[in-house]
Amino acid sequence: MVVRRNSFVKVNASNKNAPGYSGSRKDASYIMHSTTNGFTPEIIKGYEKVLDRFPGGHRRKSKTDADVICPVHDDHNPSLGVDLRQNGAGPKVVLNCRSQGCGYSEILQAVGLTDADLELQEKNAAMAYGCTLEAYAASKNLPVEFLTSDDVALEDGTCYVKELGDEVPAVEIPYADRDGELLTNRYRIAVGGDDKFRWEKGSTTTLYGLHKLEEAHDAGYVLLVEGESDCHTAWYRGLPAVGVPGVDNWRDEWAEHLNGISKIFVVVEPDEAGKKLWRTLVECNALAGRLRKVVI
Ligand SMILES: [Zn+2]
Repeated sequence: MVVRRNSFVKVNASNKNAPGYSGSRKDASYIMHSTTNGFTPEIIKGYEKVLDRFPGGHRRKSKTDADVICPVHDDHNPSLGVDLRQNGAGPKVVLNCRSQGCGYSEILQAVGLTDADLELQEKNAAMAYGCTLEAYAASKNLPVEFLTSDDVALEDGTCYVKELGDEVPAVEIPYADRDGELLTNRYRIAVGGDDKFRWEKGSTTTLYGLHKLEEAHDAGYVLLVEGESDCHTAWYRGLPAVGVPGVDNWRDEWAEHLNGISKIFVVVEPDEAGKKLWRTLVECNALAGRLRKVVI
C-alpha cells in the first residue's frame, strides 16, 4: 500500500528513476545546497568558525558541508568531512575522516577544539524551530530515500508557527486512510524540544499509518507506537506499526481500526508519557486481551 497524497508527490517519486539518480545520501544533500537546511544564520556562522580552525585547503560543498585537510594523517586532498547536522540535542558539527578513519578526539586535539565546541547553541530557544527532511532523517538515522518513498511520502515543506509569527521549514507528514488516500497532514516543525508538531488546519486526528493495517492483518500483529517517528523506524525494519499522535490524543473509537488483529504490541517508552499511553490503552475495552507491553 502506498500513500496517495497528490500528484506533486508522484512527480517527486518519479524523480527516483530519473537518469543520474543513485539513491545516495550525497545526492539528497546536493538537492539542499541552496538552502541552510533549517539552520539559522547564527548557527551557520558558528559552523564557519569551526571550519576556520582547520588549516589548508577547504572544499565547501554547501552551507552545511565541507571537506578539509585532515590534520591527523598525511592528507593532500581534503578528505575530512566537517558537516553541520541536527542531532537530538541541537545543531552539531560532525567530523568524518573518509580516507583513514582518523580518531575523533585526535582530530579535535590537532586543531585545539573540544567536543563542546562542536555543539552549536541557539542563542534564542525559539530559533530552534524548523525541521528539514534531511535533518529529520539524520536525527532518526533513517535514509531520506526511505522517508520519501511512496510508502511514507514525507516531504520538505513549510509551516506557519504562530509563536514565531513566521513560517519555518517543516516536514510534511501525510496521514492516509486504509486505502492510502490522504486524510490530512501533520507538520514536524522542530527536530527536538517539546514543541515539535502542528496539524494542518481543520484536521481530524487519527491513527498514523492506517495504510499499513493490511500488512498488520497479514502478519497477525501490529506495533502500536507513540508518534510518527517510531512508525518510520518500525516500517524501515519491515514491521507493521501504527502510531498514536501524542499520548494525550488516544480515542477509544480508533480501536475499531485494530479489529481482527490478535496481537497488539504496545511499544512503551520508559517515561511518564509511555506509562500514560499504556494506562489509556488498558482502559479501552475493545482492546482487552490483545495488548502486550513492550518496554524499550
Ligand atoms: Zn585522517
